[in-house]
Amino acid sequence: MTDRKRRKVVVLGSTGSIGRSALRVARDLPGDIEITGLAAATNHGQLAAQARETGAKRVAIYDASKADALRAALPPGVEVFAGPEGLVELAAETGADIVLVAIVGTAGLAPVLAAIRAGRDIAVASKEILVMAGEIVTTETVRHGVRLLPVDSEHNAIHQCLAGRDGGAGEVARLILTASGGPFRETPAAELDQVTPARALRHPTWDMGPKITIDSATLFNKGLEMIEARWLFGIGMDRIDVVVHPQSLIHSMVEFVDGSVIAQMSRTDMAFPIQYALTWPRRVRGGMEPLDFAALGALTFEAPRDDVFPALGLARQAGNTGGTMPAVFNAANEVAVDRFRAGEITFPDIWRVVEGVMEAHDAVPSPGLPAILAADAEARGMAGSWRSR
Ligand code: NDP
Repeated sequence: MTDRKRRKVVVLGSTGSIGRSALRVARDLPGDIEITGLAAATNHGQLAAQARETGAKRVAIYDASKADALRAALPPGVEVFAGPEGLVELAAETGADIVLVAIVGTAGLAPVLAAIRAGRDIAVASKEILVMAGEIVTTETVRHGVRLLPVDSEHNAIHQCLAGRDGGAGEVARLILTASGGPFRETPAAELDQVTPARALRHPTWDMGPKITIDSATLFNKGLEMIEARWLFGIGMDRIDVVVHPQSLIHSMVEFVDGSVIAQMSRTDMAFPIQYALTWPRRVRGGMEPLDFAALGALTFEAPRDDVFPALGLARQAGNTGGTMPAVFNAANEVAVDRFRAGEITFPDIWRVVEGVMEAHDAVPSPGLPAILAADAEARGMAGSWRSR
């Protein structure tokens, strides 16, 4: 990445929760961030409005059938890319300094790999990509000399706490990811069968897209983040812990071998980690308010309820097994979340699906992309046809 002050940024998933926050950050920092490209799945109306607002000259839409409607809504001089290959082209060939990947699920993988190979730095929000293909993505970033800048608030916090230290080197004892505990932190296990999608979508502290909000309620989000952390910081799963911190003000911590812990704090607004990733290594004054400590009250911590929510144990198992197992863990969860939202399965069925699909999978060690994609497809098929006994 050039270290020029004004960074050219392409936002994949600009119409989503992270994407909209990124455009807010850019709006507050016109001298630091220039939005040059935008991409979404289907929402052509909002995409066109965002192109007008930001002045982005290139937009991509995954659903190619919406390309004509998008063109018609855009001001003159804006180039349109369509379909999955359009996203790849936008990510790789448009001279951006940073590609921010905020596409929900794994559809961002091909654009990310193309962007890395074209020498673009990646600000990564889409944790599913690193869970599915962390080894390939991190190997490619090293090969092409580009940076992976974490946007997920926990990993961004760890990046800040490490301040350039290598997580794999001898000084770090463990990474401590904080979890809000979600809306069912205190719900008795026997009542979880009755949880509706509407209740699971009501997160106590963060305002996020629907998939990650359900993942927060099941703790699968934290499980995905454990595997994501392993790849981002080159550290073993046995040195990644989770503590529940319901106020969500400490976004994660690093414990060093001397027993000292460094924690990162800020308000629960994704603009903080997004801005840090896009302006790194500089810190600049943006549009966010700092914390008012006198008004905060108590910060509390507790152990996650592993006996009730098995997601962390399943994540540890997937991460330790390695190979294609994390991709299977992720794909089965993605399908199970969709099925829960469609009313086909219960809330606890989400982890039953993932457990069942993982049990049936024979992990392929050190897989290439074709083996990962095959495992992902197989897991999706199994999760889609899973029936509770
Ligand atoms: P949202 O559901 O709010 O938004 C998803 C975005 O991705 C939309 O812009 C959507 O476009 C786009 N999209 C979906 N599929 C495709 C596709 N195939 N091609 C192109 N664009 C696509 O999700 P979030 O913003 O909440 O989450 C995005 C990612 O960031 C996830 O991986 C999540 O885990 C991660 N993340 C999110 C956080 C948050 O606070 N929201 C925090 C940390 C990580 P369209 O509008 O057209 O459907």
